[in-house]
Amino acid sequence: MKKKVSLPMQILIALVLGIVVGLICSAAGWKDFTANYLKPFGDIFVNLLKFIVVPVVLFSMIDGILSMNDMRKVGSVGIKTVAYFMVTTAIACVIGLVFANVFNGAGLFPILDPNQAEYEAKEFGGFMSTLVSIFPTNMWKSFTDANMLQVIVISLFFGGSILAAGEKAKLCRDIVGSFYSVIEKLMAFVISLAPIGVFTYMAWVVATQGSEILVSLLLVIVCAYLGYIVHAIVVYSLSAKIFAGMSPVKFFKGAFAAMVFAFTSTSSAATLPVSKECAAELGAEDDIASFVLPLGSTINMDGTAIYQCVATVFLASCANIHLTIGQMVIVVVTATLASIGTAGVSGAGMIMLAMVLETLSIPVAYIGLIVAVDRIFDMGRTCLNVTGDISCSLCVTQWEGKKK
Ligand code: ASP
Repeated sequence: MKKKVSLPMQILIALVLGIVVGLICSAAGWKDFTANYLKPFGDIFVNLLKFIVVPVVLFSMIDGILSMNDMRKVGSVGIKTVAYFMVTTAIACVIGLVFANVFNGAGLFPILDPNQAEYEAKEFGGFMSTLVSIFPTNMWKSFTDANMLQVIVISLFFGGSILAAGEKAKLCRDIVGSFYSVIEKLMAFVISLAPIGVFTYMAWVVATQGSEILVSLLLVIVCAYLGYIVHAIVVYSLSAKIFAGMSPVKFFKGAFAAMVFAFTSTSSAATLPVSKECAAELGAEDDIASFVLPLGSTINMDGTAIYQCVATVFLASCANIHLTIGQMVIVVVTATLASIGTAGVSGAGMIMLAMVLETLSIPVAYIGLIVAVDRIFDMGRTCLNVTGDISCSLCVTQWEGKKK
């Protein structure tokens, strides 16, 4: 019998092929070919993922809450999850700042002319108005806008209310269970197309990233990637080992498919179906993973936090601003909050960077200096974001004493 190639293996092959084809196209001057004929297939795939993400989050979270069957248990899982997210994100900020300051102190960051920067930042209404906007006024609008924080709030309310209604809500329970089974089938189908998405996106990125701007910002990119790698190795290896009782090698092997997928798609939300498969393979309890992963893909962004810290120090140096220790503390707090507010979609972390810069009175237009290579930063930060979600689902499974 022919052995079927596993999904992580297929994704790895697609990644390597994508790089090779991208290099060939770049050398042959066929950038337009990758943009016009390869990328659209990646776009179709990402569209499909986006199309299922709202029902996946909605039904996955409600189903997770119903399986826990007790609001106290939901509360206990929720507190552990949010605590893990906050602590690891704060550590990520510190790691990002340490690397950025070492690079900056050693004069490794290029000094770019801020006059070249052109970027129109989004206005932020402040913390309280952001808090208010998490609560939906019209749930259909939350679904059509794919406002994931609102979808999470809706899931919590419906899950809790179905539990509270007891026997009378039996029909609702069955409907959720039935829909969730359908969504799972749909997810499995879309995930089976992942290698196509990985291949086409990778070929396009490799062929089209402008090499000049890439070279001038190379050390800033290297700095961010060092932060991502150190965070993954230190924080996730340790949590796998200490909290989830698993060897780091097993953890990273199990999370590999989701990591590669996140790396190429640059969207935690789009990677959700793949993360769920990986977490289940690694032994995360189903009801816990169904709760933790959708939440994580929306609010847990360690990679984004590292990126925002590195970018802030770099842009401050371009503006000739030297950040004091007090300002660094502000960076940790605002980057943690900004990463929570970052949506799990491509490029969102750069938009939220404006919030950190604004707090420090660094002109937000300076983001224009790094916008051209944002995808490169985004690939690494999304990969880290997703790894953190999977790691959390395993730790909470262990803390709840439910390791399979
Ligand atoms: N693309 C990232 C994610 O989906 C968010 C970001 O841009 O930082 O996790």
